[in-house]
Amino acid sequence: MSTRAATEERAVVIGLEVHVQLETDTKVFCGCSTEPADDEEPNTRTCPTCLGLPGALPVLNEAAVESAVKIGKALDADIPETTTFHRKNYYYPDLPKNFQLTQYDAPICADGELEVSVDGERRTIGITRAHLEEDPGSIQHAGGSIESATHTLVNYNRAGTPLMEVVTEPDFRSPAETRTFLAKLEEVLEYLGVFDATRDGSLRVDANVSLVDAGEVREDGSVPESVLADANRAEVKNISSHKGAEKALAYEITRQRNVLRRGREIEQETRHWDEARGVTVSMRSKEAEKDYRYFREADLPALEVSDWKDRIPIPELPDARRERFGTEYGLDDEAASKLTSTKEVADFFEDVAGEYDPDLAATWVADNLLGELNYRELEITDVSDRLDEFKRLIELVAAEELTVKNAEEIVLREMLDEGEDPEAVIDREGLGKAEAGEVETAVESAIDENPDAVADYHDGDDGAINFLVGQVMQETGGSADPGQVNGLLRERLDG
Ligand code: ADP
Ligand code: MG
Ligand code: ZN
Repeated sequence: MSTRAATEERAVVIGLEVHVQLETDTKVFCGCSTEPADDEEPNTRTCPTCLGLPGALPVLNEAAVESAVKIGKALDADIPETTTFHRKNYYYPDLPKNFQLTQYDAPICADGELEVSVDGERRTIGITRAHLEEDPGSIQHAGGSIESATHTLVNYNRAGTPLMEVVTEPDFRSPAETRTFLAKLEEVLEYLGVFDATRDGSLRVDANVSLVDAGEVREDGSVPESVLADANRAEVKNISSHKGAEKALAYEITRQRNVLRRGREIEQETRHWDEARGVTVSMRSKEAEKDYRYFREADLPALEVSDWKDRIPIPELPDARRERFGTEYGLDDEAASKLTSTKEVADFFEDVAGEYDPDLAATWVADNLLGELNYRELEITDVSDRLDEFKRLIELVAAEELTVKNAEEIVLREMLDEGEDPEAVIDREGLGKAEAGEVETAVESAIDENPDAVADYHDGDDGAINFLVGQVMQETGGSADPGQVNGLLRERLDG
């Protein structure tokens, strides 16, 4: 094989290190709040421990450990008998202690997996480990960019927020797969109630990427350990969204292919994803593990966690729930997937389906409500405290007090655009379902006023009936039921 052919036939190998902030009330090693207050001042949610003052001791937050155990169970990971904490030593201004408290050789979760569906194919992504650690503070370069800033500010309010770092095996073969995986991971974390995706910076990704000889990829898609170890890889940092991961990786793969095409070697290095410019830039040659001088944190004893796995329950997860929605409510895969996309949507659907027809509930929640929200670039979480109002709207449709057409096209849309409740829209627009008498009067007058259409109908032109139905609908302001009007008209005309 010529060198040129070899460089063209490269397979992509990607592994992720995903940092997720855990939703606990307080920080992981002290009692400071994790919840940013509105307009809070920098360096106000701090104490001697998270500021790293001499003599201050860490106390492990039980809720953070519980969240970690839930994540481990959801990822089908092993949870060891005991777990320990280590100091990862490095100097950076956002790290007041000059070390990060993290886990090293006894992480709380190891050897798990997460199944994702890529282009209709089920893929299992291996989870090497997931460990607990503390978030550093945040740095702000005054004047914007690191190059132009005259000085840099540091805020320790975030320092000590619990993080779970989830490290995957190098099992991804394309940027699109990482995006699907991250969405699925977020979905699972939200179901567990340990994570808030809407919080700024709650998910941060480091993406490792290398190109290997395509001939080395086995039939099942795996790559031999020795090939992985030999491949020079870039670690791309500063990715903060699913889309960002896909874009940064696509860029980085093209960059690496071009380097190889020019006959040069890929550097083993850490690169920075510049979201605004859409490029990755070299930060530093990759640090080796020994650079961090890991050693046991003597101020935190080993934690016995062997029985936590049995003690801490987790809710039904998205995959299981999707399957149950299929069997229990007779939903097809697409509807079941939409309705389990977030726990809040699934809970709302089950609430409605428990009281009304499940098919009606599925149409209203999956198609109408989610469709109209999506059109307005809203999520269900944006209307969390109005779910009762949407339920009342569905109830009016179920009770046939409102036509489906009016409910969908007028009431739901006005509810979302005007922030009104369903009753207010119905009152204002006069949409209450027409009284029986009113419909019959409208049917009579449609017949009386349109002799030509009536004659056409009697001559066998069945289309004429649609015209007459239209006249009645207009007369009743759309509040009559078209099927019923059709029946009434035929009764009169044929009788
Ligand atoms: P480090 O601690 O130096 O970052 P690790 O060996 O712990 O290195 O691996 C970190 C990440 O790199 C993991 O997500 C792993 O899947 C990924 N990885 C390992 N080998 C490769 C490779 N050849 N190409 C891409 N990613 C890789
Ligand atoms: Mg790393
Ligand atoms: Zn503190």
